[in-house]
Amino acid sequence: MFLDSHAHITCDPLFQEIEGVLVRAEREEVDAIINICTDKTTLERGIDLAEKCKWVYNAGATTPHDVEKEGALHFPHFEKAAREGKLVAIGETGLDYHYELSPKRVQQEFLVRYFTLALECRLPVVIHCRDAFADLFSIATEEFPKGKAVLHCFTGSLEEAERGVERGWLISFSGIITFKKSEELRQVMREIPLDHILIETDAPYLAPQSKRGKTNEPSFIRETAQTIANVKGVPLAEVAKITQNNARNFFLLDLQPFLDGLREKLRHASGL
Ligand SMILES: [Zn+2]
Repeated sequence: MFLDSHAHITCDPLFQEIEGVLVRAEREEVDAIINICTDKTTLERGIDLAEKCKWVYNAGATTPHDVEKEGALHFPHFEKAAREGKLVAIGETGLDYHYELSPKRVQQEFLVRYFTLALECRLPVVIHCRDAFADLFSIATEEFPKGKAVLHCFTGSLEEAERGVERGWLISFSGIITFKKSEELRQVMREIPLDHILIETDAPYLAPQSKRGKTNEPSFIRETAQTIANVKGVPLAEVAKITQNNARNFFLLDLQPFLDGLREKLRHASGL
């Protein structure tokens, strides 16, 4: 029924009890999870997990927070995984001028490197952007003019969301839209057409309103979908179906077995 388009399930603490996390997700009708890997360890765990668990898919990049410390160190690992077809997206990459944990210049440099990698590997990009939309859009216009992207965990203004939609990008809403104080964000979400919306938990962070204070996990996704259904006045099943389809098309999930087969044949043909 649901697709969690952004969760960090190979990060601790979720990875420490990954079996329980997956069982509870299945019980809550989560059909697929996009696992966001942010370093070498979470990437290796993610690649292993996706081999055993065909409904888990991986995306990877160093977050804008960590690029100063770890960007150069981990880039080759994400690059290798992308080129070997182990990722369905590059990200989360982007710009965070709110916390500015890495200098702006370094964040921009890695955003460009990841845009370039995504274009080379024909992958979409998962973007983290906080208080930096002007720079994000101008860099994207230069470096990623026709690329596919999603603005994950969106908390910006309606104008910023619309500028994303005009580019054909998707807007992903997390449990933040369930918070009592998020009325403004719910009004933004109301204006965005459902066929441009994804839903996500961003687990283990940002548990929804009824679970605040707990470690978030993919099985908590329903509350976010229900909030969208309530605000837009459409049935929950429709929100689940449309957002799942949007994600399947965006990450090309249904093509993955075919692409795996193709890569296998190429490997054989080249004698590797
Ligand atoms: Zn995240």
